[in-house]
Amino acid sequence: MEAKITNVKFETRAFCELVGMTKEIACSQCGFRVRADSDDELVEHYKQHVKAAHHMEPSPDQILAMAKTVQVATA
Ligand SMILES: [Zn+2]
Repeated sequence: MEAKITNVKFETRAFCELVGMTKEIACSQCGFRVRADSDDELVEHYKQHVKAAHHMEPSPDQILAMAKTVQVATA
């Protein structure tokens, strides 16, 4: 049990060195995905999509509530 936990920690650390963290949000209406490194960018990009595609203007709070952090390969 203890060995397994140690192993997971090690793998997680190694994995993080190979990937970058970014924010992603998937449009609830059409599945369109927006990715950005910062909250501001994410909100801005998603807002533009929702406005253009669905004629809605969600608030930054609503947008960030739907956002999730994802890991992406940097290579
Ligand atoms: Zn959409």
